[in-house]
Amino acid sequence: MLKIKILNFATNKKQIIQLIQFMKIIQSKILKIFALIIVGSLLILFVFKHKLINLLTEPIVKYKLQHRNLKLEPGLNVVLIGSGSPLPDINRVGPCFAVIADTNFFIVDAGEASARNIYLIGLDPKDIDGIFITHFHSDHIAGLAEMMLQRWIDGGHKDKLPIYGPVGIDSIVNGFNLTYQIDRRYRVAKHDSSIIPASGDGGIPISFALPNSNNADVVVLEKNGLKITAFKVDHSPAIPAVGYKFEYKGKSIVISGDTKYNENLMQHSLNADVLFHEALNIKLLALVEKYYPNNGNKIKQILHDIPSYHTTPIEVAQIAQQAHVKNVVFYHMIPPLPPLFLNETFLEGCSEIYNGPLILGEDGLLVHVPLNSNKVEFKKLLK
Ligand SMILES: [Zn+2]
Ligand SMILES: [Zn+2]
Repeated sequence: MLKIKILNFATNKKQIIQLIQFMKIIQSKILKIFALIIVGSLLILFVFKHKLINLLTEPIVKYKLQHRNLKLEPGLNVVLIGSGSPLPDINRVGPCFAVIADTNFFIVDAGEASARNIYLIGLDPKDIDGIFITHFHSDHIAGLAEMMLQRWIDGGHKDKLPIYGPVGIDSIVNGFNLTYQIDRRYRVAKHDSSIIPASGDGGIPISFALPNSNNADVVVLEKNGLKITAFKVDHSPAIPAVGYKFEYKGKSIVISGDTKYNENLMQHSLNADVLFHEALNIKLLALVEKYYPNNGNKIKQILHDIPSYHTTPIEVAQIAQQAHVKNVVFYHMIPPLPPLFLNETFLEGCSEIYNGPLILGEDGLLVHVPLNSNKVEFKKLLK
């Protein structure tokens, strides 16, 4: 009996060894076949590369263009087109917002490269109804000419684009109109005035004056249920400087413009659904100033001077809390914030002051304020 069992065990062991050897052979053959398929595919791709690219080009272009147009939900939508400041930032273009209340499409500020971001985000420059400028620092107007040009070329408009701003806007807009006069001539000559009428190029300035008081405001436009109010802020010596409040069917958003801590802004932000506020973190800026190469240029001194006419994140949190703002989005952040962990440093202490959501804005951030609910929605359009 024992002899039989030993014999059986020996036979089984032999079979198992044979099975393992068989599996190994199969495994190596499968690996060889896979390697052959991969090498073969790479070879085919290499040989027919140009034919494949030709085959795919049309569907890719078709897909990209047909999916370019952004479809927005009904209600009040704000797209942060540019969230940057004057300091160079690889991820952020100059300050710019698109405020879209159903069919009304307005821009606030036109920072450098913002017209390009409008395209990349999927909005259409031809639909712009007007631009509102907060103040005349270069970072807020550097993209103005390009935006006027894109809107004219895309839409073939006969009328110039209305550009609203405090007193002084005339010289800014007329200056750009003059600067682009030669460009306009080239384009009309190339494409014919029946496609792009010369009369529609550039902007038409619409200036508004504010009373002298610190709590001054003025309703700049009321149209299709949308009310746009400019209110005085303090960005001295950049005078005049305003922020804007957009009210639409019971909802409201506020854009600070550039300012130091400002009571008037707080009053206009009361119960706002979203406050978009500039911010400067003194601690981080001091570090940038400390380690900026001492090579004789004036940047160190300029960095030292700027905190006095901007608002700290803590002050923004205080404004938001006192004004019962429902959401805060920071933009125009100084200094620029490259590594992720600096975002935490930038907002240090804010959540202890303000109970609502604090969001560091980025280019392409869509903020949707629905009319029939209190749930503000955020979506990234450039990632
Ligand atoms: Zn400024
Ligand atoms: Zn600025």
